Amino acid sequence: MRKYHIPIFIPHEGCPNDCIFCNQRKICGLTTSVTPAEAKKLIAEQLSYLPQKEREVEVAFFGGSFTGLPLKLQEAFYRVADGFRPRIDGIRLSTRPDYIDATTLALARQWGVTTIELGVQSAVDEVLIKNRRGHTFAQSVAAVQEIRKAGIGVGVQMMTGMYGSDKEKDLYTAQKVASLHPDCVRVYPVLVLKDTALADIYQQGEYQPQTLEDAIETAKEILQMFEKKQIPVIRLGLHIGEELRQEGAVLAGPFHPALGELVESRIRRDRLEETLTQMEELPKELVVQVPLGEVSKTIGHKRCNAIYLKEKYGVTLKIRA
Ligand code: SF4
Repeated sequence: MRKYHIPIFIPHEGCPNDCIFCNQRKICGLTTSVTPAEAKKLIAEQLSYLPQKEREVEVAFFGGSFTGLPLKLQEAFYRVADGFRPRIDGIRLSTRPDYIDATTLALARQWGVTTIELGVQSAVDEVLIKNRRGHTFAQSVAAVQEIRKAGIGVGVQMMTGMYGSDKEKDLYTAQKVASLHPDCVRVYPVLVLKDTALADIYQQGEYQPQTLEDAIETAKEILQMFEKKQIPVIRLGLHIGEELRQEGAVLAGPFHPALGELVESRIRRDRLEETLTQMEELPKELVVQVPLGEVSKTIGHKRCNAIYLKEKYGVTLKIRA
């Protein structure tokens, strides 16, 4: 059974906050708000592209602070999504931890919301304050508990490389997030987007974003930590849509359209390297048997793992599937 999300991005709608890294319109690739009528069209269109069998489809209201919308508007979006049942199997949404209360949860439950993803971002309050998140980590913990109590699944979104954070704080955040036992996690290394407060801080020289290498190394450890706890990481790195690809949209940071793939292949490179360093003598060739789906991750993006092993150890990597 393959899982699909039909994302409906509702940029900045309902959100009076201005987190320093956020330029919601750029992230969503949209410049206008989406109405329920437009959402209906989008869902119908995307459903028509999906396979008809062996699929599980969720409508996903992303991009803003969904439960910060007026209740009537939340309900209007729910009604639109609900009208597509049984062609869709569920509804999910993303929101802020401080926008979870009994009324919004009751409404979400009433309309069969399956998962609520919370923008937790950091477990360090000092980092949350510096980034003007407007909520504490304790509020995130309480929100996770409330969502669970309502019988709804919980996803957590966290960031790495935030202003005021470092690798230690990022790993601490991942540990704290794992201790909440979410049903899934998304990890977003911070990018410096044009027209954000973070861009000003960066241009004043007061913020040094993660390099791509830093982001890969940190995300690698985070991914392995969640894997050990059997918590699925469903996204690593921002979705790079048209808007983010435009010249000048991203000023700095670990921008890469396939960051998740880079991290996965780094994990495999580490394993290969460990194998080599445990050998008494380095072979000319290292022949590895992997399942078909693992071939590109093992060789690495643009053969980077094969090149690395050749340059560092003089070993030729051969993959058999
Ligand atoms: S709460 Fe979300 S939508 Fe609102 S400013 Fe912060 S990141 Fe952007």
